[in-house]
Order: sequence, then structure tokens, then C-alpha cells
Amino acid sequence: MTNYLKCPHCGNDEFDQTRSMIYDEYIVAKFNSHGHVEDEIIEESECSGEDSAGPYECKQCGWQLVNGNGEEITEPTDVVAAFVQAHQAQAKGSKAEDPMPHSAEPSDAGWHHLGYVTIDTGRLLLLDPVHQGRVDPGAGDGQIAIPGGDLSAVQVPTGIGDGRYRVEARSIDSPICGKRIAEIRVRFLDEEGNWLGGDPQ
Ligand SMILES: [Zn+2]
Repeated sequence: MTNYLKCPHCGNDEFDQTRSMIYDEYIVAKFNSHGHVEDEIIEESECSGEDSAGPYECKQCGWQLVNGNGEEITEPTDVVAAFVQAHQAQAKGSKAEDPMPHSAEPSDAGWHHLGYVTIDTGRLLLLDPVHQGRVDPGAGDGQIAIPGGDLSAVQVPTGIGDGRYRVEARSIDSPICGKRIAEIRVRFLDEEGNWLGGDPQ
């Protein structure tokens, strides 16, 4: 069963949107002796596209899916983020522009295996794939800047050099958008300092 996102203000799950559509119509007409069209019949009409669309708006309370500039939000990941941020803002009675709420302490339970990451330079880089190739591989450890705006990635030295390290994730059941990855971790060393980068058993 589909779990629909609910309005952060009233809990309703139906949203209105006004769209201007472009239609192609195929008609048959006759001209009278004065040159006016008469007896026009629409044989077929077919929607050929969308001209413009307004923002989605809660059917009950009018809450709108818009960003800080009042522009409509339609990208799926942006839509989910807008719902979650509005729910959080609602919960703490502040504005949606502040997306950093208090955070509950992460749990130690529920980690599961995702896969392995192969390391050949003794370093691990965390970055958005879209920014691949734009960071300097020789950059130091910690936060590193990505040219072209206020963008960054994080590079860390692995525990003891190279290997195939296990990556684990902890998922949570978000009351708003369902099961999501909440955290990831990479196992470089165990608590006694033993290297964990050998081939998986
Ligand atoms: Zn509502």
C-alpha cells in the first residue's frame, strides 16, 4: 500500500495544482456565403503539453510546496525534503527556513551491511557523484572545497592504509517518508586496533 506524504499542518494527503494545458483540436467547418464559419464540429481534441503549472497546494489548509523564493517544488527529492522540513518546523514551532533542528542521539543498533569499498591510496573521499572529477585528489584530510560555489566534500585517512573495507548503514523508519538510510559508517579498525581491510570471508 502506498504511503502518501501528509500536509505538515493538517495531515491531509491531497494537493491541488492549477495547470494551463495546450490542446490540439481537429475540426470540420463550413463557411456560409458571408464567409463566416458555421457548423463547426470538433472531431478530436488532444492534449499536447503543459504550458505552465502553479505550485501544489494542500486541499484543506492551503499549505504550498514552494521554496524560499516562492517557486514551486516538483523534483521528487526536493518534495520529500520540503515535507520533512515543514514537519520539523511545525513540530518546534519555528520557520521552515531553518532546516537544522535538534537531533536525537543516534542509536547503536540496527547497522546492516551495504558493501565494500576498495582503498588504494590510504584515503576515503565522501562526495556527491555529480561533483566527481572536480576535487583535487591531492587535497588534504578533513573538509575540502569543491571549486564553483559553496560546495564541499570530506576526505579521511583510513585506519591503517589500503584494503577492502566494509560499509554499513543504519536505516530508520521515518514517520513521514518511510524507511530511509539515517547514517553510514566504514569499518577501518576494530576497537582493539585490528585492521579490518582484508578480503571478505
Ligand atoms: Zn494542509
